[in-house]
Amino acid sequence: MRATVLHATRDIRLEDVDDPQLFEDSDALVRVVAACICGSDLWPYRGLPEVSGPGRIGHEFVGIVEATGSGVQTVEPGDFVIAPFAFSDNTCPLCQRGVHTSCVNGGFWGHDDHQGHPVDGGQGERVRVPLADGTLVKSPTEPDESLIPHLLTLSDVYPTGHHAAVSAGVTSGSTVAVVGDGAVGLSAVLAAKRLGAARVVAMSRHEDRQRIAREFGADEIVAERGKEGAAAVREIFDGLGADHVLECVGTADSMKQAMLSTRPGGGVGYVGVPHDVQLNVPAMFGRNISLAGGVAPARAYIEELLPSVLDGTVTPGLVFDQTLPLDKVADGYQAMDERTAIKTLLSL
Ligand SMILES: [Zn+2]
Repeated sequence: MRATVLHATRDIRLEDVDDPQLFEDSDALVRVVAACICGSDLWPYRGLPEVSGPGRIGHEFVGIVEATGSGVQTVEPGDFVIAPFAFSDNTCPLCQRGVHTSCVNGGFWGHDDHQGHPVDGGQGERVRVPLADGTLVKSPTEPDESLIPHLLTLSDVYPTGHHAAVSAGVTSGSTVAVVGDGAVGLSAVLAAKRLGAARVVAMSRHEDRQRIAREFGADEIVAERGKEGAAAVREIFDGLGADHVLECVGTADSMKQAMLSTRPGGGVGYVGVPHDVQLNVPAMFGRNISLAGGVAPARAYIEELLPSVLDGTVTPGLVFDQTLPLDKVADGYQAMDERTAIKTLLSL
């Protein structure tokens, strides 16, 4: 089969690799229908950290089950399934507490599993899925093709935006500001509105991204960044700041912007993969700002988020502004690297 392989900084190729096979009774083989490129894939693509050798990549995909091991009970060949960006058993003490990304038996696509078997990346034609019963969520019906981009967001960006909102404490009537206008930040706007937020401010200076934020329910847009951006958010909320701020970037500047946009006693939910983030704990202490979040346990949220995707109440797939065939995957990375695409869908 063909799969995406990252060889070195900005050297990414679709190439022939070994066909996946069932190793364990709990495995399934999935034929990928659609995959996508994540903002977090850009870090190794840019050499941060530098890759040490050819490696498989991609962690967001949906597809059709082709085969299952003898122990698999919840999915069968022909089922349309959503794969979260980590595999997990959904039964261990940490999964039971909703932290599937720390599953004691789990792991990540493109790396070996606990048995030492290689696990395929998501940006390829087929994937061996370990712990299939715990990992995969099947669609109750065969989805119409038009739904596939929306379902694909359940692998990562939509649950990640939701995790930011849940971690920050967003509930009905909340005021919210979202730092970051990438696919996760936009998804966080949608998630906050779905949780009943009364007023959501999206922080973005790009017109195309502002438009999607509006479609996802943003009530206001703040184009300024940094201290000026935070001051504009505080101004909107009576000079105090937002109850809940969703930090969806992961840089020192974005975290500072989030903290300064939060009202005293409010909460920041953070889901941006952190790079050189520093916290001013004394300032947080003085203003009673709480911070919660981390890598999103996407698997924990898929069943909750799936129905409104299936019935069209929400359309999270609007974050995809580029669709390419899998053999153009290198062009997709380049487009996202150069920010000419918000998020690239790879169709198979
Ligand atoms: Zn687990």
